[in-house]
Formats: sequence, C-alpha cells, structure tokens
Amino acid sequence: MILPIYIYGSAVLRKHSENITADYPDLDRFIADLWETMYDADGVGLAAPQVGRNVRIFVVDATAGAEEDPRLADFRKTFINAEIYERTGEMTPFTEGCLSLPKINEQVMRPSTIRIRYCDEHFVEHDDLFDGFAARVIQHEYDHLEAQLFIDHLSPLRRTLLKGKLAAMVKGKYQADYRCKLVKK
Ligand SMILES: [Zn+2]
Repeated sequence: MILPIYIYGSAVLRKHSENITADYPDLDRFIADLWETMYDADGVGLAAPQVGRNVRIFVVDATAGAEEDPRLADFRKTFINAEIYERTGEMTPFTEGCLSLPKINEQVMRPSTIRIRYCDEHFVEHDDLFDGFAARVIQHEYDHLEAQLFIDHLSPLRRTLLKGKLAAMVKGKYQADYRCKLVKK
C-alpha cells in the first residue's frame, strides 16, 4: 500500500525514533509498504518517520549508483535498529533531496565512509562498511531516525536562502507528485 509521506513541518520528522523487536506488528507488511511508497515517489531511500512512525526502520535502493560503482547493482537493503558507529574518509559534497522536502535540492557535505550495525528484514544482524553513494543515502535516511533533516547540515547562509520556501511548506504550500500530508502534531 502506498502510504502518505509526511512533509516538513510534521512533528513526527522531529522526533527521535525507537528500536523495534522482531515481533513488531505486521513488520513484513510495513516494510513492503515502505518499498512501495518509496518507488511510487521515485525515491532512493525512505525512513519510517517519513510515513509517520517513529521506529528505526529505513529502506535504501542504491542501484542508481551502479553505473559508477558496479558493487551497487543489487543494492536494495532494509535497515532495522541501525547504528552508525564510525564515520571516516573525506567530507564529500553531494546534492541531496528528500521526499519530505519536495523540490528542494542542496549540496550536503558528509563523510565518505561509514560502519553500521543493523538487522535486515529477517532480523539477521549485520556489521558492514559502506562508502560512496550507498554511504550517502544511508546517512541521509539514518538522520531521519535521529530527528534530523538534510537541511540541518547546510550553512547558515544557505538556510537563510531557503527560509521562505520552508516557511511556505509548513503552511501547506508545496507541490509534490506523490501522496503526502502535513501533520503538525
Ligand atoms: Zn529524507
């Protein structure tokens, strides 16, 4: 089922998300809904808070990066209870967008390499190193679990320039070609 994506200004995007247990109700259904919602909106990642739930689950499809990095050819992963415990490598620029902030794209600096512990959709534990495009998308989605958004990483000047657009968005003035909603409480 395609779920509505919560837009900037929604309280759920600014709340810290909690770990889940393997008996989380309808987990398989929820993960399937995340994938369906993400693909419907042409995203490369989607985190549970973006569909209104403060739980530590996100999905990433990094196959768009496969042309430059063949290791990403099958990169479709579900991350449950993830913890990034190391960020290394150079701070690297990349233009990011977010389904919760429609039509805003800004260059964000992030470390190129991460180490992350997480469970997959079968609750099997992993401890992996990712770099490049995969590390970029994972860090963006992980931020959502920590109540952060990519605009939080921008310089004060860039944020000032976005102020009008963001203020409008909070008032419900935004355009998106996918199902979305704004829930302030
Ligand atoms: Zn996002």
